[in-house]
Amino acid sequence: MHATDAVQSAKRGIDVCNACRYCEGYCAVFPTMMLQRSFTDTDMAYLANLCHNCNGCYHACQFAPPHPYGINLPRDFAEIRLESYAEYSFPKVLGRAFNRNGLTMLALVGVSLAFVLLGMLLFVPHDILFSAQTGPGAFYRIVSWGVMSLFVGASLGWSVIALSMAARNFWHDTASPLTKAISQSAIRTALKDIATLRYLGGTDGGGCNDIDASFSQTRRHFHHALMYGFLLCLASTSVATLMHHFLGWEAPYSWYSLPVVLGTIGGIGMVIGCIGLIWVKIATDPAPVARRVLGADYALLILLALVAKTGLLLLLFRATPIMGTLLALHLGSVLALFIALPYGKFVHGILRGAALLKSAVEREGREVVGG
Ligand code: SF4
Ligand code: SF4
Repeated sequence: MHATDAVQSAKRGIDVCNACRYCEGYCAVFPTMMLQRSFTDTDMAYLANLCHNCNGCYHACQFAPPHPYGINLPRDFAEIRLESYAEYSFPKVLGRAFNRNGLTMLALVGVSLAFVLLGMLLFVPHDILFSAQTGPGAFYRIVSWGVMSLFVGASLGWSVIALSMAARNFWHDTASPLTKAISQSAIRTALKDIATLRYLGGTDGGGCNDIDASFSQTRRHFHHALMYGFLLCLASTSVATLMHHFLGWEAPYSWYSLPVVLGTIGGIGMVIGCIGLIWVKIATDPAPVARRVLGADYALLILLALVAKTGLLLLLFRATPIMGTLLALHLGSVLALFIALPYGKFVHGILRGAALLKSAVEREGREVVGG
């Protein structure tokens, strides 16, 4: 990490926090930073990814603007997080995508949609593309199973590699003597924190300052809907792939089949989560918000909503003549999403997961050292 303006500003804030300590119980960040007196730029990347942007320390702080100290940790940490995504990305040169990330993602979606639409217009006979296709293999009369698997598999496979490398880069760069050995219990703690989005529940489950100084669980609920909706959609695609590959059962599947049930619930969850999180972003007090990161935030939510909505529409109208067009829109948006995963806001899930694991390992290490 580099000593950017946000890093310098956060370091100044932390110096005051370490003397004040009022927010000690608010989140995992404060207990971690109160163990040190000085911080490297890399420490700031770790603390920023440990922060879940609850705004609690802004609304509670007597030194927040307009106080001359101007302490605003949520804003500083949000900017540092964005800088850390670029810093740890693989390959590093593609980290430039985090500059003006909203526009970059918009361009990527446009190119992906145009690529799939043009490909279909050029290579699929129009009487098949624009007529109702029904029965087993209906989708594959428009785009063959092999072509679909090649593009989706290659883009997703590359993203998994790039995201794994980003996590590795982050872990190595922020390593400390306490994080050398990872115990099973630390992994369990981190997985539980991730699965329950524990910290979005606020101190003692009282909620976070999602909109203003009052407490709510709104962001946590919408984030849960999006996260589990996304996982259900991935499960739906995986089950459908296994059914096709090993049982020879070709899509489209019945309304009561496992892939359709998982995909429908997951898609609805994703749409609710995306719309809800966009609403929270619009309604929230702008003072602790880093405007520079908003493009990346909105771009991912809009892209995820596009994938979910086109998937649900494809399911609803799969036996009609517009199925081919909807299939192009869905495949184009899925392709854009899979390519964008390591170079957009999605990477926050990976680095935050790594930061939570590091925090769990460090807590155990301290208990052992402290007896
Ligand atoms: S954010 Fe403000 S109130 Fe909270 S510990 Fe820091 S200085 Fe104190
Ligand atoms: S915004 Fe919330 S999570 Fe981030 S440092 Fe402040 S209290 Fe902790």
